[in-house]
Amino acid sequence: MNDSDSTQSLAINTGSDPRLVTLARLQTPLYLFDAEAYAFVWANKNAVEFWEAKSASELCSRNMNADASASVKQTLQQIKKECFEKDTTALERWTVYPNQTPKTANFLMTPFKTLDNRMLLLMQIHVLSEALDDETLYRTTALMHTTTMISAYDSANNLVYCNGAARDTMPADLSVGTKRLVKSEDATRIIATLSRQHFCDIEAQMYTKNGIRWHSVHIERCTNPTTGKQMYLATETDITEQRSAKEQAYKLAFVDSLTKLPNRVALMNQLAALLDASEPQPFAVMFLDLDRFKSINDSLGHAVGDLLLIQVAERLSESVRGEGSVFRLAGDEFIIILSETKASAVSSNVANRILESMAKHMFIAEHQLLIRTSIGISLYPENADSANELLEQADAAMYAAKASQCGYCFFNSRMSMTSASNIKQRMGIENDLLKAVDNNEFELYYQPKIACNTMTVCGVEALVRWNHPELGTLAPDRFISIAEDCGQIVQLGHWVLNEAMRQQRLWQDEGLEIQVSINISAKQFESNQLDIDIIDALKLHDCDPKMIELEVTESLLADDPDGAYELLQRISALGMRLTLDDFGTGYSNLAYLQNYPLDSMKIDRLFLSDSKHSILLRTILNMGKTLGLDIVAEGVETAAQVDWLLKQGCDQMQGFYFSKPKPVREITRYLCGTSLIAADNQPAANDQDHAA
Ligand code: C2E
Ligand code: CA
Ligand code: CA
Repeated sequence: MNDSDSTQSLAINTGSDPRLVTLARLQTPLYLFDAEAYAFVWANKNAVEFWEAKSASELCSRNMNADASASVKQTLQQIKKECFEKDTTALERWTVYPNQTPKTANFLMTPFKTLDNRMLLLMQIHVLSEALDDETLYRTTALMHTTTMISAYDSANNLVYCNGAARDTMPADLSVGTKRLVKSEDATRIIATLSRQHFCDIEAQMYTKNGIRWHSVHIERCTNPTTGKQMYLATETDITEQRSAKEQAYKLAFVDSLTKLPNRVALMNQLAALLDASEPQPFAVMFLDLDRFKSINDSLGHAVGDLLLIQVAERLSESVRGEGSVFRLAGDEFIIILSETKASAVSSNVANRILESMAKHMFIAEHQLLIRTSIGISLYPENADSANELLEQADAAMYAAKASQCGYCFFNSRMSMTSASNIKQRMGIENDLLKAVDNNEFELYYQPKIACNTMTVCGVEALVRWNHPELGTLAPDRFISIAEDCGQIVQLGHWVLNEAMRQQRLWQDEGLEIQVSINISAKQFESNQLDIDIIDALKLHDCDPKMIELEVTESLLADDPDGAYELLQRISALGMRLTLDDFGTGYSNLAYLQNYPLDSMKIDRLFLSDSKHSILLRTILNMGKTLGLDIVAEGVETAAQVDWLLKQGCDQMQGFYFSKPKPVREITRYLCGTSLIAADNQPAANDQDHAA
């Protein structure tokens, strides 16, 4: 060491301090280091060599600051502080890189106060043997190169060390461990955990040089071997990608992808959590379903249906306003759970808010839609104590609400689950109806009509049957009123009209001159273009209008008597016969019979089946005659009834006594075989047709 080398202001001349003169002679590499300035201050010959410097002054002039990380500097300052405070030494094993060659050594640090009171560290270098060297080298290199972020904190939470990976991500200004955490509750949790046990594992969001990232953090509480003080060692890995993959998986499992609402699985989890709580709180389950969603979906397309569901989900969440959670169960079914409240009062409020919000038009694409919804509510613990039961009850209450069109309904024990399942079946039928015409599932049966004066078949009535793929052959009472409610009757009626005319033409071509009666629903009148449909069908099948009779009911007069009147006039003008069906069951306003273009009226079979109606029946028959209408009796089942009707001057008869409604092949055989009916001579056997 050359005294004249000292060009640096910090550097110290060997000669200026007698202790240095002694140290300069030692073989052990020794040097003085200023932890604050982070610079060499003095070095003996072997230290200069170790550091691969040209001279002590060259070593002292090295700009160490530039290469050192904040954490390494801090570690050194911390060591220095402790060495001075406790007047102890510290030993660290480091790998250093003088001129890029790694050298591993033990550095023994001793506090050294200069004569002018500067506090320095006297460093003794103990170069390690080859074997040890390697091990330490690997360890240190591993620490340096591992992607795991490793950092150490003192008891006051100040960063004292971090490895390369940690340094690469840690923002320069963050030296306090807890400040790295985005959420203060994570810090609180870590501190609480470490006060109980010596480690803590947590997944937390951290501020990093790359923005906020998710880290999996393992923190060990340990003792600094040199200082004996408590310190914390943190190992962290970035799990942002795994985390988002996990979130994605979570979403797939628990979130409905269309509406972004939690799904059925999430619902069942929440119900389980509510019911399994140590002190379960009351809550309400609301079951909500959109009326006629299926027809919107079918008529406007799934894209519109999807957008509608999204809007519904938004309106529901808005209406619930943090008082509960909204789930999408399936299709157009939603569940709302209102918890920890006076559930029944709150659910009434929420239900009213929902109904109010849903009553407003929805604007989707170019469509303006009005959606009605029905809500059923079941309460825990009043109604049931299992998730499934609560859901079933809310479901039953929802169907009751739907049936009574009252918006919402609380479950009560009188609502049997069977009625719910009946209505459910009804809903199933409504769905199936949408495709039944296209799937060619309908078939017409025909029932003969007998002219009383000749006792011959004067026509047949077409009666539709549904060959349902699962439920078998369904009679019209299972589906006609449903089809009327959901509007499908228009499509079905159109099919019936065409099929009956097609068959009439076929019979005509086979030489069977037979009039066909077709039932028309009042709903088919609403479109106001029934006559156009009829004209088209007549043309298409080349039918003589005189061979077609339409059976209409009084209900068609209920809504728009004038419109119905005009339409009936137009149809009658085509030359078709018009029959008033089911007379006696509806309004039975006799006055209109005079004005409407009717040819005949059919007395409901109720009048025949019950003898106490016989006086009434006779009155009707007489009145019909005065009005110039043919009187048809339907539901004729016995020979006695036939006798009686013939005596009263009835014009036509129809009923099981003559024949049940039959499929085309059977009725054709019947028509070919019987032109004369001899009811008088035949015993009225129950299931046998009375044909000669
Ligand atoms: P409707 O027009 O009054 O038809 C007569 C119904 O009485 C038929 O029932 C027939 O099978 C039944 N019937 C006939 N004779 C007897 C009898 O002697 N005793 C008893 N107990 N019943 C008898 P179906 O075929 O089940 O039809 C029921 C109703 O469904 C029809 O009543 C009609 O209102 C409606 N319907 C049937 N086909 C169509 C259709 O194509 N379009 C429309 N809109 N409605 C139809
Ligand atoms: Ca009829
Ligand atoms: Ca009838």
